[in-house]
Amino acid sequence: MNKKSFTSKRRSASGSGSSRTNSSSVSRRAKRTKKRGGSKPQGSGGFSRASGRKSFRGGSRGGNNNRRKQPSYNINSFINKATFVEEAPFVPKHSFADFAVDISIKKNLERKGYTKPTAIQDEVIPCILEGKDVVGLANTGTGKTAAFLIPLIHGVYANKAGQILVLTPTRELALQIEEEFRTFSRGMNLASVVCVGGTPITPQIRKLKNYNHIVIGTPGRVIDLIKRGKLKLGGVQSVVLDEADRMLDMGFVNDMRFILESVPKKRHTLCFSATMPREIEAIVSDFLNDPVKVSVKTQDTSKNIDQDVVRINGRDKIDILVEHLIQKDFSRVMVFGRTKHGVEKLSKSLNRQNIKTESIHGNKSHGQRQRALKRFKDGEVTALIATDVAARGLDINNVTHVINYDLPESYDDYVHRIGRTGRGEKSGKALTFVG
Ligand code: AMP
Repeated sequence: MNKKSFTSKRRSASGSGSSRTNSSSVSRRAKRTKKRGGSKPQGSGGFSRASGRKSFRGGSRGGNNNRRKQPSYNINSFINKATFVEEAPFVPKHSFADFAVDISIKKNLERKGYTKPTAIQDEVIPCILEGKDVVGLANTGTGKTAAFLIPLIHGVYANKAGQILVLTPTRELALQIEEEFRTFSRGMNLASVVCVGGTPITPQIRKLKNYNHIVIGTPGRVIDLIKRGKLKLGGVQSVVLDEADRMLDMGFVNDMRFILESVPKKRHTLCFSATMPREIEAIVSDFLNDPVKVSVKTQDTSKNIDQDVVRINGRDKIDILVEHLIQKDFSRVMVFGRTKHGVEKLSKSLNRQNIKTESIHGNKSHGQRQRALKRFKDGEVTALIATDVAARGLDINNVTHVINYDLPESYDDYVHRIGRTGRGEKSGKALTFVG
């Protein structure tokens, strides 16, 4: 039986399906710069939409000298209409039952409601179970976390003396991964600890006195704990670099080197992201041993996301944002701004106009960020106004829209921002303010 799903009118001509190659074959950049078809975007909601082919260069984000020079992008790459078409459902080569993982994990997957592996899980789980180093590329929201957690939980359960280390660029992502770890390892008596900044170190040190099967952390805090002699990584057998390109892009390369020097050389290293610029991939490869590259990307952005631009045409940007946010279908919206200050100001201004918002950015404490995220997840506010700190990996149910109030710095940042909507089988909309 055919399943209905959204797909894009501008799907890449490279065809669908997965590819498994060695680490040298990357053709995504070429695909990205390929001229896109010129279908005129439909206007909606009384706003004029861009139809030109003007090029923009992403502005530089203040305060980070480590950022690489960003490529230019074309605003037409932000227009990608999703259309409702008949599409054959993805048929995995494996069922969860096929994987040689402990029965408790399979039961936990069933309890979670996972009936079959997603494409990245289908490809990657057997490789990880074979002990291969992997670079895994898959679109946002397609199950990368379970793709590495399922086999690694099995490994650590079979060999309880081993330890897993997961490094992520943000605190929120670290906590989310721990939550999934707990779900998939329920009843297996495995311990976890999250080591992230912005929150007191003492409880983390206390937890580190006990054995933890998995340590999930952000590079800064992990290094702090290593230097204090509280985190010893000599027993680590598997390392995951989640959103590795972002960690390197944020200038964490030396931090990652330092951390990986504390981990045994003979280890299993995995690296996941939806994006992997070629120059970053080269650095990542240094950390891996003869990795298998598994890409299940059929296009840069998820096929479920309807993408369009909104022309400002000299009007006040905030007025246009308000006109959107008051519409009924804009019920759970992530709005991305460029700077911490701008995001905070925008959030306050919207609250004054009776639009309930929360904000998330690097000037907030970990606790404040967690509370803001919770209120947004619980539906207590309509919009979460965020810097790119919220662009990576966050899995929030039913985000209806992502609005790029300020242009992203690079096309990869755009891909991750809009990836907060249209996750799994769900559809979503992304709007980018331009002009
Ligand atoms: P992730 O890309 O890991 O953030 O996952 C995106 C979403 O897909 C999350 O809400 C997961 O719970 C969900 N998910 C992951 N794997 C599966 C699966 N095999 N079946 C159904 N949902 C899944």
